[in-house]
Amino acid sequence: MDIATFRRVFVVREEGVTKISTKNHRPRCFLNDQDHCSVYSVRPKQCRTYPDWPELWENPHLLQAEIARCPGLRKAVEGFDQKL
Ligand code: SF4
Repeated sequence: MDIATFRRVFVVREEGVTKISTKNHRPRCFLNDQDHCSVYSVRPKQCRTYPDWPELWENPHLLQAEIARCPGLRKAVEGFDQKL
């Protein structure tokens, strides 16, 4: 698939931000029926680096909101607490 086709089919702009999934645009993104990413080996940089984003760890309010939203991050953070 060429980039132009990918952008037309999978990408939307919302509030000035380019997104491949939103509440109203492919809300399950590339998750398959088993909740696994079907493009895992070629997933976007944001997915490969999540949650190691400085803007997330440098903002306690944003971090708490993300922990509340993401079960995987919540589980990881609870694991940190048990190791401390
Ligand atoms: S890892 Fe990234 S590309 Fe894959 S389903 Fe999740 S958000 Fe979408």
